[in-house]
Amino acid sequence: MGFFTGKTAIVTGAGSGIGRALALALADAGCAVAITDIVQERLDSVLRELESKGTRAGGYRVDHSRREEVEAFAARFFQEWGRVDILCSNAGVGHGGWYTEMPLEDWEWVLGINLWGAIYMMHYFVPRMIEQGGGSILLTASDAGLVAMPGMTAYNASKYAVVGMGETLRIELSEHNIRVSLLCPGDIDTNIIRDGKVYLYDRKGRSAKPEIEKYYRTRGVPPEVVAEAALRGLERDRAVIVVPWIHHGPLILLRRISPQLYHALMRFALRKGIVHKMFGIQR
Ligand code: NAD
Repeated sequence: MGFFTGKTAIVTGAGSGIGRALALALADAGCAVAITDIVQERLDSVLRELESKGTRAGGYRVDHSRREEVEAFAARFFQEWGRVDILCSNAGVGHGGWYTEMPLEDWEWVLGINLWGAIYMMHYFVPRMIEQGGGSILLTASDAGLVAMPGMTAYNASKYAVVGMGETLRIELSEHNIRVSLLCPGDIDTNIIRDGKVYLYDRKGRSAKPEIEKYYRTRGVPPEVVAEAALRGLERDRAVIVVPWIHHGPLILLRRISPQLYHALMRFALRKGIVHKMFGIQR
């Protein structure tokens, strides 16, 4: 029997991208899978895919930025499923824009889903996981939770916070037989840019969103690659899963060794317009 056989998993934000790939991979590995998403049609479509595999599956429409919805989901989930062995807190949104032009509402939107969504999941699920005797938690952060990128202040802040929370939980919850792993994907070809908020513009003042989308479509790797690495990482109890390593691994290492040098490099890239050129953004 494999590590995943006969276990029960939850994947949040599973209607698309990395969440969908995680849910399908967990089903293939032998888990029963409960999924959530804010978009009902996406939820229904992934649910059908899971059921066509013969997997026990359930779909729940949840807005993870709303505390009362996560609380209600937790109550309903434990009533219907009894326990969760693998909890993947993955729902999140993308955001790009210069700090000086960013409305405060954007901070609330990004942190509301990416950070508070994860906090609510931990708050309502961890006590029950302790009671049941343990389990595994996978928190989808990002490589943007390990290195700072210009034009991503709020997203960086949300993901650094998830990394901080996850690292402390990994230490504290080990006493309760709960493993915690941080998933830090690089550039992945999903709906994150299309559905996200991007306030960056090209030289003609047009939104740079289509260019950035194109970059992710052509340079990004499929979410299935992330799911495969995540399952391997869960099984091996890896603290941080950086995938694909080649995207930002070297920068992550440099940031670890010398924040000073990393910041100097990023400032240089910004000054020389390298970041702008990558995405066709106006300076
Ligand atoms: P995606 O847009 O393809 O999927 C995200 C899913 O989350 C969507 O189905 C969306 O409907 C759902 N969602 C959004 N807000 C929600 C809310 N409030 N409540 C419930 N569901 C909600 O994006 P993705 O790339 O698969 O993103 C998944 C996670 O991976 C996010 O946390 C994201 O920050 C992270 N990530 C993505 C990349 C990337 O390059 N795509 C890189 C690093 C990290």
